[in-house]
This record gives sequence, C-alpha cells and structure tokens, in this order.
Amino acid sequence: MRIEIKDLSHEYDVEVLHDLNFFLEKYKSVAIIGVSGSGKSTLIRLMSGIEKPTKGNIFINGMNVSDESHKKRVGFVFQNHNLFPHLSLKKNITLVLEKTRNKTQEEANEIAEKYLNMLHLSDQMDKLPKNVSGGQAQRASIARALSINPEIVFLDEPTASLDPILTHEVLTAVEELRDIGKEFIFVTHVLSFVHDFADYVVYMYQGQIWEHGLPQILDNPKTQELKDFMRKVR
Ligand code: ADP
Ligand code: MG
Repeated sequence: MRIEIKDLSHEYDVEVLHDLNFFLEKYKSVAIIGVSGSGKSTLIRLMSGIEKPTKGNIFINGMNVSDESHKKRVGFVFQNHNLFPHLSLKKNITLVLEKTRNKTQEEANEIAEKYLNMLHLSDQMDKLPKNVSGGQAQRASIARALSINPEIVFLDEPTASLDPILTHEVLTAVEELRDIGKEFIFVTHVLSFVHDFADYVVYMYQGQIWEHGLPQILDNPKTQELKDFMRKVR
C-alpha cells in the first residue's frame, strides 16, 4: 500500500500528534507500536477516516482519507469487540451488510457464514456475544470487518482485553488472513505478532513517528527511545 502523511497534527484539549510527515509504499501489513499515550490510536483513527485531523492530510493508495468514499474501503476492529449485544454473531454481520451494503438477506447470510467459517466460528455463529469467549467475540468482529470486503483492515490492539491464550488464538487467526489480498494497519503490544505478521513497523513516541522500518529494526533499534521500549515490553 501507499501511505502519505503530510504535516499532520491532531489536538484534543492539547496537541497529541505533532506535525507528522511520513511516506511508505509497497508494504502490505504495517504495525504501529509504542507506549500507551504515544498517539497510536489517534493515528490509526485518523488514517481510517473515523476521525478528522486538526491539521494536515493523509493519503492512502492515492485517496485523501477525508474523502467520503475512503470509508467504504475500510474495516475497523476495536480494542473491545464492539458487537451489538442483543444480536447473534451472525446477525451482527448480516445486519451491517443489509443496512450499509444493500445486500439481500440471502447474500448477507452467505457472506457472513463465509467469514465466520474463515475465523473458525461456524459452530458459534448463532450465539449472542455474551455467550462466547472474548477471543471468539473478537474473531467475530474481525469477521464483521472483513465481510464488507474492505481494501484496508485496521486493528487497534484487538487483543488488549484478552488473556494470553485467547490473544494467541486471535492473532493466529489473523495470521491466517495473510493471503486474502487485504492490506493491514494495526496497533499491537505483541511483538512476536509484529515479527510474524508485519512487513513494516512504525514506532511512535510522544505523538511523533520516532523510528520506522522493517521488523528487524526491533532487534537493532537506532534510537534510545526504541531501545528502552523494547527492553520494557520483552
Ligand atoms: P495510544 O493509543 O498510543 O495509547 P492515544 O492516541 O489513545 O494513544 O492517545 C494519545 C494522547 O491523546 C493521550 O495523551 C490521550 O490521553 C489523548 N487522547 C486520546 N483520545 C482522546 C480524546 N478522545 N479526548 C482527549 N484526549 C484524548
Ligand atoms: Mg490506543
């Protein structure tokens, strides 16, 4: 994919992203890492178009992410699964397809089943979110994000609320998606997953892109800040 970030700043009550400039092309799977509060979620939300920047622009694959049509090519998986609690896993997906993608009930069912199968949830799909494990619910929200056939899938710490076993289960399922022809931009604290799944890594520190490169930069950081980070998360 091609990502261009130009003079990007973002402010809530104070400025949290400070004049980012960044260019990347050809990589398919980009990890964003950094300590809590460094601006990872803000950046990924701005890239997905969920939020608008205070200043500057982001272009992904040639399109300004503030264009309305960018929304159509994006799937987003949040830290907490964010499923509708009163709907089965399957209905969570078919509802979105029927309401936002004009699919018939039959088409929606077929697509939902395809992605639920892909995420190993065929035998769980008629259950409510509260009656499945956190890992299963999170896999269902990944299935939901994929079901709209996005070009780019964003995941913001999809395993943050899961224990190590469920974390492994969800991340293994994501790794199996490597060849489905999507591009991924994700935030995670699981460095083994970065090594296995990312082909490019962005390290954020205090609202800036501090260091970036191939995943190997994690084994040999240039900056003291990334060295310190690596020491803490290992
Ligand atoms: P990370 O995802 O790396 O933990 P965030 O992007 O969530 O970082 O946060 C960056 C900074 O912006 C933090 O100081 C955080 O408190 C602040 N922040 C994030 N979201 C909001 C918000 N909706 N309103 C006010 N401040 C926010
Ligand atoms: Mg965050």
